[in-house]
Amino acid sequence: MLSEFDLIAHYFTRPPRHADRVPLGVGDDCALLAPAAGMQLAISSDMLVEGRHFFPEADPRLLGHKCLAVNLSDLAAMGARPLAFTLALALPEASSEWLAPFSEGMLALADAHGCELIGGDTTKGPLNICITVFGEVAPGAALRRDAAVAGDEIWVSGSLGDARLALAGYRHEIPLDDATLGEAATRMHAPVPRVALGLALGGIAHAAIDVSDGLAGDLGHILERSKVGAVLNVDALPAGSMLRKQPQELRRRFALAGGDDYELCFTAPRARHEQVLAAGAAAGVAVTCIGRVDAQPGLRLEDTSGAPVSLQLSSFDHFASP
Ligand code: ADP
Ligand code: MG
Repeated sequence: MLSEFDLIAHYFTRPPRHADRVPLGVGDDCALLAPAAGMQLAISSDMLVEGRHFFPEADPRLLGHKCLAVNLSDLAAMGARPLAFTLALALPEASSEWLAPFSEGMLALADAHGCELIGGDTTKGPLNICITVFGEVAPGAALRRDAAVAGDEIWVSGSLGDARLALAGYRHEIPLDDATLGEAATRMHAPVPRVALGLALGGIAHAAIDVSDGLAGDLGHILERSKVGAVLNVDALPAGSMLRKQPQELRRRFALAGGDDYELCFTAPRARHEQVLAAGAAAGVAVTCIGRVDAQPGLRLEDTSGAPVSLQLSSFDHFASP
């Protein structure tokens, strides 16, 4: 069995890769972080708990990826550039079979974004993984939830609902063949944080949020904080490639209130429509205009003909569900 210090040294300590912004990494009482002169720090934490956010038998490599991906997604939603992260880990046992793939999955994504692991804490206990990410953003450039303006277009990146479809498959809520479940599950287990898009939207978008609990609920946070309302065209929602094959009602429900999508939902002035499309192209991700912000409070759903659509939706809430 590895000791706590062997474990940290072996799996979570590497020579510094970005000495300019991380003068001191893992190994001292604190790490030292040096954001570029004049930049603001963007900071966010996300905790993943076994049995709550992932299945006990979850593949450790994918889990390592996902833990960091959901945190990078928060930086993306702020338009911030990733700098570094810390990892607080409670583990039932120090097993190399778990730690090696977990750290590899996590550090591969870290390297892809130039985001350095600078410290953390390690303790014995039920599996619980808490990451804090640090990013940088120019003063005034952050994509805040309170910045949507009536008249803005509403956009979403990538596609929605396949992660929720996979969950429905695992829970036997609906029958799915193995190929469909396998494809949809990739969206659940290996989300792609839209960091490049978040950065490309700086100076173009007004408000942004990452879609983790379902589009309708997460967009609702923007509307509430910005004191505006919105109309969404449910026929414009980009359903995931597996969800697209499902019946209309399910398609709409999972695209609007699925959760675990990790796409960006953002608003931008209508005059910047072409610039938003160009930002998506530059970042290598589709962006779809799905509605518009207006002054009437609340979120209203329409189909392409403009007819109102009524759907029972519930956003994910840890304390509302059993
Ligand atoms: P302290 O007693 O000061 O809390 P620790 O003994 O917990 O320090 O940690 C020693 C060093 O290892 C610190 O620099 C800490 O940030 C780092 N560390 C601990 N756990 C992890 C981890 N899971 N990943 C990365 N660094 C870690
Ligand atoms: Mg400690």
